Amino acid sequence: MAHLLIIEDNENNLYLSTFILEKHGHRVSAARDGAEGIRLAKELRPDLILLDIQLPGMDGYAVAANLSSNDATAAIPIVAVTSYAMAGDRERVMAAGCNGYIEKPINPDTFLEETLKVLQTGGIYEQNTVR
Ligand code: MN
Repeated sequence: MAHLLIIEDNENNLYLSTFILEKHGHRVSAARDGAEGIRLAKELRPDLILLDIQLPGMDGYAVAANLSSNDATAAIPIVAVTSYAMAGDRERVMAAGCNGYIEKPINPDTFLEETLKVLQTGGIYEQNTVR
């Protein structure tokens, strides 16, 4: 069982990812914006952070940069979740300090595996683009 922090402003995405993770016995905490996410990451020290890139105010890139430069949170793996399907985004999220990358819309058949792969490999994970 893992404890995951989901930083996500879209209620549907938050609901779906929480549902899938909890159904498989994992514990989920949620934040609706970057500032709350950073606060909860420091307080809760989750095993993994799922980070939406498109967030109100502080975006996911800024959140990832903050988390990875802070001693209290630097060791926590981050998986970026983004609907930006533009070339260069993967490189940008990895450069911001993320360890993995999942594209929206969330695919219920592969979401759990893709998320936990980062925990199992202890870090770098390249998304399998073959669906
Ligand atoms: Mn969003």
